Amino acid sequence: MHEIQLHNTLSGKVEPLLPLKPGQVGMYTCGPTVYDYAHIGNYRTFVFQDILRRFLKWRGLKLNHVMNLTDVDDRIITNAAAAGVGIREYTEKYVQAFFADCKTLNIEAPEHWIRATDHINDMVALIQKLQQNTYTYPSEGSLYYRIAKFKDYGKLSKVDLSGIQAGARVDNDRYEKESARDFALWKAPKPGEHFWETPIGAGRPGWHIECSAMAMKYLGETLDIHTGGIDLAFPHHENEIAQSEAATGKPFVRYWLHAEHLLVEGEKMSKSLGNFFTLRDLFAKGYKPSALRFALASVPYRRQLNFTFDGLQQATSSVERLRNFAARLKSEKFPVGNQRGMAERIAQAANDYDAGLSDDLNTARALAAMFDFVREANIAMDKGEFRQGDVAAALEFLESFDKVFAVLQDTDGERLKELGFGSGEGGVDDAEIEKLVGERQAARARRDFAASDRIRKELADRGIILEDTKDGKVRWKRK
Ligand code: AMP
Ligand code: ZN
Repeated sequence: MHEIQLHNTLSGKVEPLLPLKPGQVGMYTCGPTVYDYAHIGNYRTFVFQDILRRFLKWRGLKLNHVMNLTDVDDRIITNAAAAGVGIREYTEKYVQAFFADCKTLNIEAPEHWIRATDHINDMVALIQKLQQNTYTYPSEGSLYYRIAKFKDYGKLSKVDLSGIQAGARVDNDRYEKESARDFALWKAPKPGEHFWETPIGAGRPGWHIECSAMAMKYLGETLDIHTGGIDLAFPHHENEIAQSEAATGKPFVRYWLHAEHLLVEGEKMSKSLGNFFTLRDLFAKGYKPSALRFALASVPYRRQLNFTFDGLQQATSSVERLRNFAARLKSEKFPVGNQRGMAERIAQAANDYDAGLSDDLNTARALAAMFDFVREANIAMDKGEFRQGDVAAALEFLESFDKVFAVLQDTDGERLKELGFGSGEGGVDDAEIEKLVGERQAARARRDFAASDRIRKELADRGIILEDTKDGKVRWKRK
């Protein structure tokens, strides 16, 4: 086992992970803002967090992972008021869609799923502490955080404070410019919009105080790990640090981890460019959940991920290759005994795999270790140089791989059905059928009957029937 190393945005360095309490990790993840359906960029970040939590667990750490649903937000409150419904009613559809998407992508539930609307009192109590410590000032019914008083402001994002105007205030939580501003902790009510009556006045919390209050409530004043997409480092996480540390006088987070963004065909995803995708958009085009999970996980989180349909197609084949290999291991009868050198080869592959993930979650390196092994083992099997005695160790390696990557179990059809994609066929198109038929023919040609049977079954599950003709060709039809 290799030492786990993670890149900490705070230090700008890759550091060994040394949790506050040995063997345990307290981790907080900023969850989705549930005012719309989440897109594949959001899921890039959520899949990264899932790979991280699964890896830490697999390495034997006890995880206490908290993830919130941001259901108090300016856009939510405004949209709910416009629709004439309460916040819960307005967000419910998006919350349920998010949970369903997470299940579809095999994103594990954290130990605590929490909602901002359930923690208003905790936010108020934290603001009161900041008031006592004189970090706040009122203005037009709102309460602001006085950044100039917090000497460490900017230490996470390295934002430049030289241009800051004393008392420059911003009410908007997601300000773009790289300039620090006094931000709202508590916002005055707006006419016709939802507010809470509290000891600090009527109003609603700012976004940043939500995460500080919830993270510390469940994980204590100092967290081991805090994660999010790179866009959250400033101002959101910078402001979380300012609030939490000004209230407690203690370090808020030991390791900050940020995922780089997903781009589509090299461009920023946006509705106006027509390159904006939700999971359902991709499933409607016939792509599988496992392929999307694989595609999102395969690029190390600190590299931008350029999403392309070619890449998604390749991910489909990669998952297929792994599943075929697992099926071959389980169903083929190999000669008895052990092949000389094979046990060492498997141990080496497992070691390389762990080295990859331990190296700041380098998923590309871990996958290379797996696929090199699969290629070599398949060749050995074809040559009759893989033996029954090595099957258990190879399967064990695959299992440990899947504890983290979670793509081997074929639940695609079932999940698609749950999302309402017909019988789980997911709009399977002719090109994809032809491709699978071709793969099956190739498997038969190399006498890999386990793989060819798997593909036949997969097609059958999706309503496609194959007929082998006398001249060695294949016809297919829809049921
Ligand atoms: P939001 O719902 O906007 O609060 O975002 C939820 C998560 O998705 C946050 O961690 C964001 O940083 C992350 N995120 C937003 N856009 C992208 C993107 N294009 N690629 C990767 N992560 C993103
Ligand atoms: Zn947050």
